[in-house]
Amino acid sequence: MQALMELILPRECGGCGTPGTSWCGACDMTVPWEPARWMPRHDPGVPVWTLARHRGPLRRALSGWKEHGRSDLAPVLAYRMAHALAATATGGAGRTVLLPAPSRWWATRMRGRDAIADLASQCARLLEDLGGGDAAMERALALHWRARDSVGLTARQRAANVQGRVRARGGLLSTAAQAPRGRVVLIDDVVTTGALLAESVRVLRKSGIPVREAMVLAAA
Ligand SMILES: [Zn+2]
Repeated sequence: MQALMELILPRECGGCGTPGTSWCGACDMTVPWEPARWMPRHDPGVPVWTLARHRGPLRRALSGWKEHGRSDLAPVLAYRMAHALAATATGGAGRTVLLPAPSRWWATRMRGRDAIADLASQCARLLEDLGGGDAAMERALALHWRARDSVGLTARQRAANVQGRVRARGGLLSTAAQAPRGRVVLIDDVVTTGALLAESVRVLRKSGIPVREAMVLAAA
C-alpha cells in the first residue's frame, strides 16, 4: 500500500518540502506535544486548547491538507491531536465524543469530503489506540449555506457570518447526549476569532450536549 501511494502521490514533507516523507522529524519538532490554552477574541465559554500557533511548518501542512489535497497529512495531524487530547484528559470513566466544527456544506461537497469530520474520526481511533478509552466522532453540527468563507472577514463580520447559522443535526445527537459524564470535545483545524467555536458551543448547549472544551490544531 505504501509503495502504491508513493506512485500516486509526490511524497514530500508538508511542512518544508523535504522529499521522501509526508512530515519530517524537523517539522515535527516545531509542534509541542503538550497543547496550550488559547483565549480567542470571542470566548466560547469553554477552554480552548491548541497544538501550536498557525505559522511555520504546521501552517504549511494545514494548507496542504485542506487546500491542496494532501490527504496523507491527515493521519499526521490526527495523531498529534490525539496525543494532545490524551495530554489534557482529566481522567475519569466515560466515553470521549469528538464533535467536528461544522463545515460549509457546499465546500464539503465540492471537495467530496468533510475534512474536519475526517480528522476527528481518525483522531478518535488513534485516541483509543493510545489507551484513551472508548472514543467516537459524531457529526452533531451543520453550517447553514448562507455562511460564507470567513477568509478576509473582520472579527465583527466573522461573528455575524456564523450567528444563527450553526444548527444541530437532528437525530444524530444520541451518542453525545448519552455521555453526560463523558468527555465531549469540539474539534476544529484553526481558531481565528473564535466566532465559530462560540456559536457551536451555544447551539450544542441549547441542544443539551454537555460540551466542555475545544481542541484545535492551530491558533491564528
Ligand atoms: Zn519538514
